[in-house]
Amino acid sequence: MAGSPVVMRVLASAFAVAERAGGIVRRVLHSGELGIVEKSGASDLQTKADRMVQRSIIASLSRSFPSITIIAEEDLPVEAVEEDLIESGQAEEVLQKACPAEYSTLREEELVVWVDPLDGTKEYTEGLLDHVTVLIGIAYQGKAVAGVINQPFYNYELGAGAALGRTLWGMLGLGGFGFKLQEVPEGRRIVTTTRSHSNKLVTECVQAMEPHEVIRVGGAGNKIIQLVEGKASAYVFASPGCKKWDTCAPEAILHAVGGRLTDILGCPYRYEADVQHMNSRGVLATLRDHDYYTQHVPPSVRQALSTN
Ligand code: AMP
Ligand code: MG
Ligand code: MG
Repeated sequence: MAGSPVVMRVLASAFAVAERAGGIVRRVLHSGELGIVEKSGASDLQTKADRMVQRSIIASLSRSFPSITIIAEEDLPVEAVEEDLIESGQAEEVLQKACPAEYSTLREEELVVWVDPLDGTKEYTEGLLDHVTVLIGIAYQGKAVAGVINQPFYNYELGAGAALGRTLWGMLGLGGFGFKLQEVPEGRRIVTTTRSHSNKLVTECVQAMEPHEVIRVGGAGNKIIQLVEGKASAYVFASPGCKKWDTCAPEAILHAVGGRLTDILGCPYRYEADVQHMNSRGVLATLRDHDYYTQHVPPSVRQALSTN
């Protein structure tokens, strides 16, 4: 559909590119050579999959859409990308949808694409494979408007025969697809938070939410999947550490189905190309009852993070 609005074509490409990325993530794991590099420390890792996927996503999207701005997590030397990493397809599933009127005239140069080639790298290296996702978010005028999450190892515990991997996507004004929207039963608070980047503020804030249950898993993408599939009621992370490429795609999908992602104080993040990459005031994401959680952030956390 060459006639589809630009944003739909970018989103349809992002879907296809994320599926190819998922394949790369699986192949690198099966090769047994992860090529792990420590970035800022032992909890901040990069693998061969992070590097290959980022090259694949940037080369693929920028070949199809030379005027979009792409901001991706990994700092990599510029080098030619092999042709077999380049995806030129566009998902029919996306192109078939009608573009919401307010986005139908957006131009390529107005779009900022935030890429986390592999979210949950630490978990990837530890074999917690369903925590791993590939995130491609599309922002316009500072707002996350559409996003794709590929989960390369979805169903891996079911073994051979089960279809491995899936792609979830969403767009403001259109909805969320690739999953069945479910909510945690009314009144029950299940908080999901980091397993590998915790600190005193993080645990203090989680406890202040008076949760009935706390789940500690890796990945921002994975935690948003838990929210939209009714496994958790709030993603609470009261610390800097998470970046714009972690939250852009998840935020777009969550907002597309009526949820909210903000800093821990309830203020929105912005996604213009020149914003700071760090989400300095933490992350709070919910499908509903956002105000309950912002109101329960303890004064110590509020104070520590509001100066960021
Ligand atoms: P987590 O919930 O710990 O998996 O974090 C979600 C995302 O934010 C992942 O991409 C992490 O790598 C990133 N992140 C969170 N905290 C930190 C940190 N202290 N240092 C580096 N990355 C972090
Ligand atoms: Mg990440
Ligand atoms: Mg990453």
